[in-house]
Amino acid sequence: MSRSVVVIGGGLIELSAALHLRRADAGVRVTVLERAHVGAAASGASAAGVRVMGRDPAERALALESLKRWPDLDRELEGRTGYRRGGGLRVALDDDEWRQVPRTVAEQRADGVPLELVDAATARRLAPGLAPDCRGAVHCPIDGQAEALATVRAFAAAARRAGARLEEGVDAGALVAEGGRLVAVVGKDGQRRPCDVAIVAAGSWSGPLLATVGVKLPLRGRPLQILLTDSAPPALASVLGCFGRPLSLKQLADGAYLIGGGWPARIVDEAANRWEVLDDSVRGSLDVARSVFPPLIERTLARSWAGIEAFTPDDLPVLGPVSGTNGLLVAAGFSGHGFALVPAVGDILARLALDLDPLRHLWSGLGARFPS
Ligand SMILES: Cc1cc2nc3c(=O)[nH]c(=O)nc-3n(C[C@H](O)[C@H](O)[C@H](O)COP(=O)(O)OP(=O)(O)OC[C@H]3O[C@@H](n4cnc5c(N)ncnc54)[C@H](O)[C@@H]3O)c2cc1C
Repeated sequence: MSRSVVVIGGGLIELSAALHLRRADAGVRVTVLERAHVGAAASGASAAGVRVMGRDPAERALALESLKRWPDLDRELEGRTGYRRGGGLRVALDDDEWRQVPRTVAEQRADGVPLELVDAATARRLAPGLAPDCRGAVHCPIDGQAEALATVRAFAAAARRAGARLEEGVDAGALVAEGGRLVAVVGKDGQRRPCDVAIVAAGSWSGPLLATVGVKLPLRGRPLQILLTDSAPPALASVLGCFGRPLSLKQLADGAYLIGGGWPARIVDEAANRWEVLDDSVRGSLDVARSVFPPLIERTLARSWAGIEAFTPDDLPVLGPVSGTNGLLVAAGFSGHGFALVPAVGDILARLALDLDPLRHLWSGLGARFPS
């Protein structure tokens, strides 16, 4: 009989897993349970940066593999992600920061991350309008950006087309294990969905679900804030960051600037995915962005929002099978940088669920962190 997999959560990691499952085995029955609507949490709120620069060594292979997939994703998904490879540019604005840059570049290059050190004149050519005190920058030509909601829609449509069943408005309440094997997922509506494999990737809300079978994960939900300005003529092709200052700045296709960098919002009700934007973070975020890219002084704020993201104590995700419960897989704790990893992580989860070669070389750095 064909295998049945229940994927809990309708974020990008889950949609990618569902799509890869159906592609790898047309016989497998795949059901995605999403308590609200697809993209309701971190995936829909994301700044959608697609970068390998600046990642922890344990994540680099995974990110490099994912970045290979992004340029072809629109064709693969028969949809539009808004992906654009404009490069990443991380600038140094003082001598101390600039002196430390060569060491971090050498270390990343050794792992295959194609970084180049550029002087201030080249940095300004890549990002006209950069602050005059720019000492130089690190450029990563394979970094880029996409659009969060467009990407969610493209993955959801592709997963449906491939034959996955997406059930929105269904809150998974508990996992059921018998004799060391996962056998079902029970919804808060009381409906029991038998399965051979359950993939728990419910972002910040994965912890309570896993606790129903006695698995503890040290996840903490943190709300990250994003600002969007009014539109301006095209000026910035790269995704801009800055050493020593929290910034991720990109210009979107319609000319608006998207400003992130890990600025916190406030959680109002975590269980209900409710947050509020903090004025202090708005001011701090705008100040940093304008200090690095002064043309933003002319722009006005159009919108702000936040998304609750699951963080682990070391900011690295937990990915893989849970020992002691056959058929239970986890992918959670992406700590603010899971968007770029979506193609590779979905592929790995599908392979693990189907007992295929799980591409362990890509995530071996995370191997000591399997949940237990
Ligand atoms: C503001 C912000 C900016 C970001 N910027 C970047 C970036 O530039 N680059 C990058 O690489 N990453 C970025 N990230 C991180 C990235 O977006 C996330 O790591 C990624 O989207 C996580 O996807 P997910 O599917 O694991 O989680 P989520 O998208 O949070 O999805 C989890 C889903 O599970 C559902 N759910 C929860 N509990 C249940 C339940 N019991 N039953 C059914 N459904 C349930 C939720 O409603 C939700 O839709 C950012 C995140 C935020 C919040």
